[in-house]
Amino acid sequence: MKKQFAVIGLGRFGSSVCKELYHLGHDVLAIDNDEVKLNGVSDYATHHVITNATDESALKSLGIRNFDYVIVAIGDHIQSSILCTMLLKEIGVKKVWVKAQNDYHHKVLEKIGADRIVRPEHDMGIRVAHHLDSERIIDYIELSEDYSIVELVATEKNNKQTLIEMDVRAKFGCTVLAIKRGSDVNISPSPMDEIVSEDILVVMGHKNDLKRFEAEGM
Ligand code: ATP
Repeated sequence: MKKQFAVIGLGRFGSSVCKELYHLGHDVLAIDNDEVKLNGVSDYATHHVITNATDESALKSLGIRNFDYVIVAIGDHIQSSILCTMLLKEIGVKKVWVKAQNDYHHKVLEKIGADRIVRPEHDMGIRVAHHLDSERIIDYIELSEDYSIVELVATEKNNKQTLIEMDVRAKFGCTVLAIKRGSDVNISPSPMDEIVSEDILVVMGHKNDLKRFEAEGM
C-alpha cells in the first residue's frame, strides 16, 4: 500500500532512504535547508522543499502531521535533530524515526518520544564484525542484547538431514524461521523438510545458543 513519507536531511543516509522509498512506489517529501543537497534527490522524491526543519510554523505549513512516517536524518547537527524531533512529536506526527549519532543523542531521542532510533554506522559495524567472526554467518540482525537472527550456511554434515533430525530446538534452543535455496525461500519450514548443503538457514535464538548451534550443529 502506498504510504506518505517525509525525509528531513538529505545526507548520505537520508538520501538513500528517500530514493529507496520512492523506488518502492511511495510518496516522499524531501526536506533540507541546503538547496544543493535537495537537488541531488529531486528525481527521487515526489516533492522537495527547502525548509529549516527546526521552524515549527514551516513544518506545520507543510502539513507534516498528515504523513505516515517522518524520518529525521539530520546527522552532525545534533541540536537541530533533537529540536526537530520534539516539534514533530508535539505537532502530532504518529511515527517519527530518527538517525542518532551517538549514545548521548540516542538517549535524548528516547526521552523525547522518537518512535524508532537508528544508528546506521553502529549497527552496520556490529553486522560486519559478526560476518568477520564467522564466515558461515551471512547476515546478522540483533533483536535485543541477548537475542538475534542469523543466516547460516548449511554444511555437508547437514546434507539430507531433516529439521527434526537436526533437533535444533531441543538441542540448541534455537528456531529455524526460514530456509533459503537459491532464489527459493521456504518461510514456514516443517520438521520433515530436508536440508541440503549450501542451503541458508535463517535461525533465531539466544546468542550463546546460536554460537553453540553453529559450532556443534552445522
Ligand atoms: P550522512 O552521514 O548520512 O551523510 P551526516 O551525518 O553527514 O549524514 P549532516 O550532513 O550533518 O548528516 O546532515 C544531513 C542533512 O541534514 C544535510 O543535508 C543538512 O543540510 C541537513 N540539515 C541540517 N540541519 C537542518 C535543518 N535544521 N533543517 C533541514 N535540514 C537540515
